[in-house]
Amino acid sequence: MGRKKNTPAERQFLMAHVVRTERLSANFVRVTLGGLESLEVRGDDHWCRLFFTREGQDVLALPTHTTEIGWYLQYLATPKTRRPWVRAYTVRDARPEVGEVDIDFVIHADRDGNTGPAARFALEAQPGDRVGFLDQGAAYTPDHPHDWTLLVGDETALPAIAGICRSLPAQTRGVAIIEIPTAGDRQDFPAPSGMEITWVARDESADAAGRPGELALRALTAATLPDGDVHAHTIGESALATGARRHLVNDRGVPKRHADFSGYWRQGRAATS
Ligand SMILES: Cc1cc2nc3c(=O)[nH]c(=O)nc-3n(C[C@H](O)[C@H](O)[C@H](O)COP(=O)(O)OP(=O)(O)OC[C@H]3O[C@@H](n4cnc5c(N)ncnc54)[C@H](O)[C@@H]3O)c2cc1C
Repeated sequence: MGRKKNTPAERQFLMAHVVRTERLSANFVRVTLGGLESLEVRGDDHWCRLFFTREGQDVLALPTHTTEIGWYLQYLATPKTRRPWVRAYTVRDARPEVGEVDIDFVIHADRDGNTGPAARFALEAQPGDRVGFLDQGAAYTPDHPHDWTLLVGDETALPAIAGICRSLPAQTRGVAIIEIPTAGDRQDFPAPSGMEITWVARDESADAAGRPGELALRALTAATLPDGDVHAHTIGESALATGARRHLVNDRGVPKRHADFSGYWRQGRAATS
């Protein structure tokens, strides 16, 4: 099978380190990683797998196999005491001239205040901490002519939607719907003037007690959308990503192959590791 567009020709694990961290807003921490001079910058929703140590581990042991299946089988075969955590994140910004990459982590916690390992890593990261980096390429690869672009996502998709908007041709028309926990989590990013960006903040909604993504789905369902052929990309909490695509296909007659989707995380379930 051929290589997907905009993915690395040769996969390799890079050893990065934390340069600095910055609290961007109530629910986002930006972690800047260094040591990534050899990374090919891809734009769009360029994503990566990050590997970081578990509690009590002194050594960050990265897999040596680099095929998509090979590294994972090797990872699973490693006893948990030696296995690092691994989580998927988007390259929010990259400065290849200094080998730096910014990753924006959503800080989430359950009712008892427990955070996932990645959110905790972002909160506790110190300059010099080592992080494994596996380039996964970009997932936004529309391969059909279209009149307008539709992007829908929750807060975990904000870095991806910002990256896609920044990479779109200047004449692009379209709509982006982004759900965020609070109005203060909104971020400015460059986008073509024909892209209409709609923010939905859970703290501004009277009935946002449900799962993240519900408001974005509701906003999409209620939206008056442009005419013509669309390329849609729906990402974020699994029920949002699949629900938005189902709505587009079943209720708006969008051909399935024109509506890509990706569940970035699932409510109540930790990422596999
Ligand atoms: C291609 C791709 C790109 C991604 N890019 C980003 C990115 O740039 N920024 C980003 O923040 N996330 C991004 N994600 C999502 C991120 O990988 C998940 O949110 C991941 O589960 C977080 O790991 P964790 O260790 O903090 O929590 P986990 O250990 O995976 O989960 C622990 C608990 O927290 C819940 N949980 C996980 N994430 C969230 C959340 N965001 N809000 C509320 N509850 C949650 C789980 O349901 C589970 O109950 C991306 C995912 C993919 C697949």
